[in-house]
Parts: sequence; structure tokens; C-alpha cells
Amino acid sequence: MEKVLIITGGSRGIGAATACLAAEQGYAVCISYLRNQSAANQIVQTIMQIGGKAIAVAADVASEQDVIDLFQTVDQQFGKVTALVNNAGILERQMRVEEMDADRLNRIFTTNITGSFLCAREAIKRMSTRRGGAGGAIVNVSSVAARLGAPGEYVDYAASKGAIDTLTIGLAREVADEGIRVNAVRPGFIYTDIHASGGEPDRVERVKAFVPMQRGGQAIEVARAILWLLSAEASYTTGALIDVAGGK
Ligand code: NDP
Repeated sequence: MEKVLIITGGSRGIGAATACLAAEQGYAVCISYLRNQSAANQIVQTIMQIGGKAIAVAADVASEQDVIDLFQTVDQQFGKVTALVNNAGILERQMRVEEMDADRLNRIFTTNITGSFLCAREAIKRMSTRRGGAGGAIVNVSSVAARLGAPGEYVDYAASKGAIDTLTIGLAREVADEGIRVNAVRPGFIYTDIHASGGEPDRVERVKAFVPMQRGGQAIEVARAILWLLSAEASYTTGALIDVAGGK
């Protein structure tokens, strides 16, 4: 049976690294993106150059219809999904809680948690052995901010990631007897574009002070943990929240 992976936000950063590693490991890969079509196409090209199978689909994870369409496209192109990585996520400018408004909170929650919920729902419909599926695995990309908070910086983002951890644990229990494992990775500071939206030019330097390993991580270091959780090597691991954060 073909291993079919959907990874949201696969056009850049952790998602792109995960898509490429998954293709090397034999997955047919669908990357979704929000607006960066050229970056998404480039990842598809990279995968095809190594003999892999890949497509890119524009889909806003915050839109229920886009998510439904995304999964239907994959049904048609590759067959039923066997692996999902809920990676798409946003962070907004560093801000204290007193200045945050409800619109900002809603934007962050809608992408980070509603998006993960909708994609998990569509994946479970296809994977569940109770519904005739062959099982599968889901990895949600959380953050160490779920455990540590992000005081004075992004408390809204941290709360959305806390919700992802709870979604992970709850879904893992709900679908454990349907052949589906659900886990999360919690990256620490990883060098990607997301920090450009945080508006913190000094962050890369500051990270050295608060990460025990005294460096930020690379996207591929998170990708390796994700691929392990998706693989049969992790066959008895579900509901786990795994930090990839240099000891933070
Ligand atoms: P990037 O900003 O580098 O990439 C974000 C990706 O998400 C892009 O592919 C983007 O698409 C996509 N995306 C954003 N919004 C949506 C949406 N509404 N629908 C679909 N796709 C969307 O992020 P990272 O690689 O750094 O982060 C990936 C995940 O890892 C996020 O969930 C983030 O919270 C988490 N994380 C990152 C950390 C870090 O230090 N980098 C630390 C802890 C967690 P497009 O290219 O079209 O804009």
C-alpha cells in the first residue's frame, strides 16, 4: 500500500524539510500552502528530482471548505491519506497581553488550532479501521511555548499551542483502537521565516542564552522527529508530546 502524506504549510521551514525527508523515505507527499505558490512548487520540483511523488495544493487550513477540498484532491491523486502532519501555524508580532485584541487571538487560534482540528478530522475519516481505512498516523506541530508560555511576547500563540497538545492527547485516546496514532512535536527555537513575523531581530542572539545547547535548531532536526513518529518504529507511541528544543 502506498504511504500518502499530507503536510500543511509544506512550502517553507519545518514543513518543507519534513516534506523532502518524507519523500526520501518513500511517501507520496501533498504539501499545502497558503499563498506562497512559487516556494511550494520549488519543493515539489526538489522531490521530483529525487524520483519522489509530490503535489502542492493551495488551501487555507482555517477554511473548512479548503480543507475538505484538499483531502479530496489527495484522494483523487494518490488515494487515501495514511499520514498527516499538522504543521501550518502562525505567530504575530511580539506584544504584551494588555495590547492584544480579540481579532488577533481569533486569527491565531483559527489557523493554529481550528486548522489542526479540521485536518485531523478529515484524515481520521479516511484512516479509521472502523470506517474501512487502513489506519495511519498524525503528528501535530506544537511548541515548547505550550509548556513554558511566552510571557510578554506571544501569550496567544502559546495558548494555541497548549490547545494543540490537548487536542493531541484527546484524539490519541479517541482513535487508539481505530489503528491511528496521534502525537505532537514541540520545537524550541528553529531557524525559519516565522521569526520574521515575530519582529525580534535580537532573538537569534538571545536564544543562545536560554537554550541549554546554546543554539537554535534546524528544520531538519524537527523533521527527523516527525518522521520517526509517523513510522512503524513508533508503533506503540501515541498521545506523546516530544520536545525538540535543545534542552529548553
Ligand atoms: P514558517 O513561517 O517558516 O512557515 C509557515 C508555513 O505555514 C508556510 O508554509 C505557510 O504557507 C503555511 N501557512 C501559514 N498559514 C497558513 C494557513 N492559514 N493555511 C495553510 N498554510 C499556512 O513556519 P515554521 O516552519 O517556523 O513553523 C512551522 C510550525 O512549527 C508552526 O506551527 C510553528 O508554530 C511551529 N513552531 C515553529 C518554531 C520555530 O522556531 N520556527 C518553534 C515552535 C513551533 P505560505 O508559504 O504559503 O505562507
